[in-house]
Amino acid sequence: MSTKTRPDVADLFIIGGGINGCGIARDATGRGLSVLLAEQGDLAQATSSASTKLFHGGLRYLEYFEFRLVREALEERETLLVAMPHISWPMRFVLPYHPDMRFEGDTPTGRLMARLMPWMKGRRPSWLIRLGLFLYDTLGGRKILPATRTLDLTRDPAGAALQTRFRHAYEYSDCWVEDSKLVSLNARDAAERGAQIMTRTRVISANRLDGLWQIETEGPQGRHHYRARALVNAGGPWVEDVIRNVARINSSEGVRLVRGSHIVTRKLYDHDRCYFFQGTDGRIIFAVPYEQDFTLIGTTDKDHQGAPIDAVCTDEERDYLLNFASQYFAKPVTVEDVVWTYSGVRPLYNDGAKSATAATRDYVLSLDTNGAPLLNVFGGKITTYRRLAESALEKLQPFFAQAKGPWTARVALPGGNFAHDGVPALTASLKARFGFLTDYWAARLIRAYGAEAATVLGDARKAADLGRDFGATLTEAEVRWLMAHEFACTAADVVWRRTKLGLRMTQDQMAALDVFMASAEGHGAVSPAAE
Ligand SMILES: Cc1cc2nc3c(=O)[nH]c(=O)nc-3n(C[C@H](O)[C@H](O)[C@H](O)COP(=O)(O)OP(=O)(O)OC[C@H]3O[C@@H](n4cnc5c(N)ncnc54)[C@H](O)[C@@H]3O)c2cc1C
Repeated sequence: MSTKTRPDVADLFIIGGGINGCGIARDATGRGLSVLLAEQGDLAQATSSASTKLFHGGLRYLEYFEFRLVREALEERETLLVAMPHISWPMRFVLPYHPDMRFEGDTPTGRLMARLMPWMKGRRPSWLIRLGLFLYDTLGGRKILPATRTLDLTRDPAGAALQTRFRHAYEYSDCWVEDSKLVSLNARDAAERGAQIMTRTRVISANRLDGLWQIETEGPQGRHHYRARALVNAGGPWVEDVIRNVARINSSEGVRLVRGSHIVTRKLYDHDRCYFFQGTDGRIIFAVPYEQDFTLIGTTDKDHQGAPIDAVCTDEERDYLLNFASQYFAKPVTVEDVVWTYSGVRPLYNDGAKSATAATRDYVLSLDTNGAPLLNVFGGKITTYRRLAESALEKLQPFFAQAKGPWTARVALPGGNFAHDGVPALTASLKARFGFLTDYWAARLIRAYGAEAATVLGDARKAADLGRDFGATLTEAEVRWLMAHEFACTAADVVWRRTKLGLRMTQDQMAALDVFMASAEGHGAVSPAAE
């Protein structure tokens, strides 16, 4: 981490260590601004670890005529893929077609079709899907990702896992991303460029005084005060809480909390493509190959009441996903197949949309200049986090004449400095150098650390040189790396957010890891330097 002296007054104080807060911290620091960021729990502990993990244009948002959002996201996929080829990779999506598939009635396309072709009674015609995919292929300047093609499911292996009534499908491209890892890598890069990242540190008040923000935090070392020229509220589902209860500002702007849940099952099929299933209720879900031995299915869309951190996948949501998937898979998916569930809350800008599915997925940045500037971040997608950060810095530019211009489109995240299709070669060279690694272990390390995987392993000649073995290929050397470089403090930070080894480890193994981390010297949270 950087050893620069901290200024008395920071340029930016950022509330929230999700993807938007960390993305803005990285971008701002690289422009030469001094940045402090406080996250009340672990980085990505909230929405940014609970997504479907796709860098995608959002095919279904075309039905809402959200062309700006879709174009920006499509363009962004390949920029991000090149900047982080370890944690992001291309995926093909198989969209089986059946004439019973319906629109959600209140989409602009649904309403238009009801007027023009009332006899379709809300069904999605095949030519309309093809038209949508044509736009999807062409809107975003695709260079790396392959184009849409048509599949004959009676012959293609993708048909084998599905019911025989599905005979045709379209196959299109999007990308996968390890969402929570994306957050810790952005935070790490920001810190290496000079930002101070404070985890387990809650902002309890922020007040304007003498043209500056006075901010009070509560963290592992008690309460501290900071001063900053501008405040960024990237509180995600707490954005409204921060405005009203932390900054104590009356505002008409609100956030709509929409819960999305996922289930993880044993592996349901044997290829590396993803399914895009359309329901008779107008909704869609994905079934994605996950962590080599599992399938990820989601998501739901439910208005969320209560605290964002309490979001869980209810039995009703789990059954909805099981029933939905079972309408497609030849073998019904049952409760016994489920090994894990997770749930997150979308912080959508409250635009008064009727249904949860219809609320805008676009982001809104609102700048309050009644004194020292406050930038509130509403909504957004993992896919557009880098663009959102650029827009945020553009809005703040008038207050920071010294800030340099945009730079993040061309610079790799830590470990991402290799060719976008270089994972197989990197994995082979890691295996050649560290002969004790299994195929699974080497592949996992390259996906987590990319070009830095060899540095994580150091000069180990045998597995025992990596220190304690916590199970599922997690060793002391890797845990120490995550504590030193990626702000990990607890077992959950390691096994659910920096990796997904929680799917393979036992409760006892995780408890032992917790004990080790609590006693290991120097935990990951950067100590706040009080004024
Ligand atoms: C089910 C679901 C699926 C999704 N799938 C996709 C997808 O496939 N692709 C895609 O592009 N997008 C997807 N998204 C959207 C994406 O996940 C979110 O837009 C994004 O993660 C929001 O990030 P954020 O930083 O704004 O919020 P968060 O990640 O929630 O971060 C906000 C942080 O602020 C912290 N905080 C709040 N108040 C304080 C305080 N007072 N002091 C200190 N810290 C505070 C919180 O602890 C939290 O960690 C999905 C969202 C959901 C819910």
